[in-house]
Amino acid sequence: MKDVLIEVNLTKSQKVKPDSEGLAFGRYFTDHMFVMNYSSDKGWYDPKIVPYQPISLDPAAMVFHYGQTVFEGLKAYLSKSGEVLLFRPEKNMERLNLSNQRLCIPQIDGDIVISGLKKLIEIDKDWIPTAQGTSLYVRPFIIPTESFLGVAPSKHYQFIIILSPVGSYYKEGINPVKIYVEDQYVRAVAGGTGKAKTGGNYAASLKAQEEASSKGFSQVLWLDGVEKKYIEEVGSMNIFFKINGEIITPALNESILEGITRNSVIELLKHWGLTVTEKKISIEDLFEWYSEGLLEEVFGTGTAAVISPVGELNWKGKEMLINNGNTGEIAKRLYDTITGIQNGTQPDQFGWTMTIKDNEN
Ligand SMILES: *Cc1c(COP(=O)(O)O)cnc(C)c1O
Repeated sequence: MKDVLIEVNLTKSQKVKPDSEGLAFGRYFTDHMFVMNYSSDKGWYDPKIVPYQPISLDPAAMVFHYGQTVFEGLKAYLSKSGEVLLFRPEKNMERLNLSNQRLCIPQIDGDIVISGLKKLIEIDKDWIPTAQGTSLYVRPFIIPTESFLGVAPSKHYQFIIILSPVGSYYKEGINPVKIYVEDQYVRAVAGGTGKAKTGGNYAASLKAQEEASSKGFSQVLWLDGVEKKYIEEVGSMNIFFKINGEIITPALNESILEGITRNSVIELLKHWGLTVTEKKISIEDLFEWYSEGLLEEVFGTGTAAVISPVGELNWKGKEMLINNGNTGEIAKRLYDTITGIQNGTQPDQFGWTMTIKDNEN
């Protein structure tokens, strides 16, 4: 581990912390944030922790114009013994650099960022909620800050990490959701930016999400952007199906975001001795399996919800009711196991959790 000095400037006025009961997603932010700047002559410089505060930027700053941004999302938990646990943060750093590469943003040093993140969480440790299902959501992101209206990669960037105490994704335990299979709008295409965690992908998804919400669905299931035939993923989750005892998930391609939860789920299922196959899955095939009574379970995987069982899929007005709208066995077992590993109540056989004290090695 490199010896980097991370300057710390503590706040003089601590905010009132929200009630652990009423926490939703991403509404409250802690007292401090991590900031690091980049310029083409200095590289990344000046990593520091400062009081949480607004950012002041020139209106011509590139972030306001052409969407050259990337972000990450992960969670920190407080274990019963008072240790702070992070779930596979090095994977987020790897993915951030993949996104950076696609968006022409300079690579970051994951070790420096993780050490800054640990320091930041340690300082704001009292903000980690402890009620069942709650956690501290970590949002690292990079914005281009050069003042320039030309279309080109920025020469200056700011990397920021903010922290947000978040509630249980499910108000009454894990609950199946209704999903609309989108057959008009598309999220991403091969050669585009679907594989990168960049704001533009989300901007492109809002219209479909809004229309699906107005029809009573909580998310959309995206099909491939060319033929609108192959299943890709859900809003901010990857998707799994259990067909006649076998678990399948769309094979990664250039338009699917490779989830860390997806990767963890595949490893766990294999460890349990179950067959998991990554392959191209067409929506017609899925509907056929459903009609033959072979579609046993559907669930999404992502950091925010961890595992989100799907109770209903609607494709061109055809309704697929899955497992009678109930949470499936595999989804439940995965949810319990992964959240257990994350909050330290289940053994971590895979070495997935990192404690704040795992320092300097
Ligand atoms: C972040 C994200 C996911 C899930 O990734 P995790 O690492 O499991 O949180 C899936 N799809 C999209 C589009 C995403 O942005």
